[in-house]
Amino acid sequence: MAGLVAAARARELGAAPVVLEKGDRAGGSMLLSSCVIWRHRTLDAFRSDCPGGELALQRRLLGELDAALDWVESLGAEPVATETGNPRTLGRRYDPRALTKVLVAAAGDVRLRQPFAEARILATGGFAARLAHTRGLLLRANPWSAGDGLEYGLARGADLSGGMDEYYGRALPAAVAETEYVRAAQLYGRHALVLDDAGRDLGDAAWHESDLVQRFPAGKAWYVVDARALQERVRERTVAEMVEAARAAGGDVRPAAELPFELPPSPKLIEPPFVAVRVFAAVTHTIGGLRIDEEARVLDRAGIPVAGLYAAGADAGGIFTGGYGSGLAAALVYGRIAAESALA
Ligand SMILES: Cc1cc2nc3c(=O)[nH]c(=O)nc-3n(C[C@H](O)[C@H](O)[C@H](O)COP(=O)(O)OP(=O)(O)OC[C@H]3O[C@@H](n4cnc5c(N)ncnc54)[C@H](O)[C@@H]3O)c2cc1C
Repeated sequence: MAGLVAAARARELGAAPVVLEKGDRAGGSMLLSSCVIWRHRTLDAFRSDCPGGELALQRRLLGELDAALDWVESLGAEPVATETGNPRTLGRRYDPRALTKVLVAAAGDVRLRQPFAEARILATGGFAARLAHTRGLLLRANPWSAGDGLEYGLARGADLSGGMDEYYGRALPAAVAETEYVRAAQLYGRHALVLDDAGRDLGDAAWHESDLVQRFPAGKAWYVVDARALQERVRERTVAEMVEAARAAGGDVRPAAELPFELPPSPKLIEPPFVAVRVFAAVTHTIGGLRIDEEARVLDRAGIPVAGLYAAGADAGGIFTGGYGSGLAAALVYGRIAAESALA
């Protein structure tokens, strides 16, 4: 997303940018996403969710998102919802295909199947594919974001942000096709007793559950729910519907009595039947990346901008360190800023 946004903004400012896209389609992970572009309500709430992030980056993201959403709509994007459905957050939801189409048209010259060799604005989507591969985790992102922008930046002398070992994690019941990334996600860790393969309780989850997923030992866990939890709603679905989605995706869904260990006593398991769902940690995007300042300039170890190099989206780290935020919001706000800085 960030590359298309940067090109659209650069074109608006009178430049003639070229977007070089490694994949066989435009839109990156945005195209696969739920496309809710959101922010925390306050800076305090943002910092509380992402305590290791850079304050200046967070402040600018929070302060500029609403105007950036208005800008996207000035290009022709229409929101399908003007709220997120989460009382903690503010934002808008778009149809990812329609938004991609609008951004591609505004970006102008988008060349597919062309990995970049030289770039001014790095926007390759971080290194989710590489992280998933090296850690033996599932990938829940486009297959092309393997750290090319990161390597290019490092070769130019860039510094790394914090959070290089963190990722935005989601629980999936199996390796699923990318068209199923949203539907198959198991979003009820907080309603479940979450156990490792020895039956040990993995503890509670933050509201976003990304922390919990990153704690799955060897990327695996069991979600065990009782009859009450099955009726709970998370976003637009009940837990029972998500369990059915796990079954439909070929996941391991079984009566909890068939688990190979004794269930520990838990206030979460009161009303039978108890149902167990096998879940796997899936990498949606990386949290760490190139260190940038609030002008999207890539910084070296001395904190000095690397001449003529900018980064946005998941290539730029240090915004959500220690937690979770909207990757699309970062791509939108810092994609715009990167174009403005590069042309300043
Ligand atoms: C299933 C799913 C649901 C999600 N839901 C949400 C949501 O509701 N809200 C939210 O905020 N975020 C969501 N996200 C995360 C969001 O999609 C990402 O944070 C966001 O797309 C990151 O933007 P980006 O521009 O950094 O990367 P991308 O959008 O992935 O774009 C990076 C692009 O760079 C290309 N690329 C990679 N390497 C090279 C190279 N060497 N040369 C040229 N091109 C290259 C890739 O092919 C890709 O097209 C979701 C993600 C997924 C997968």
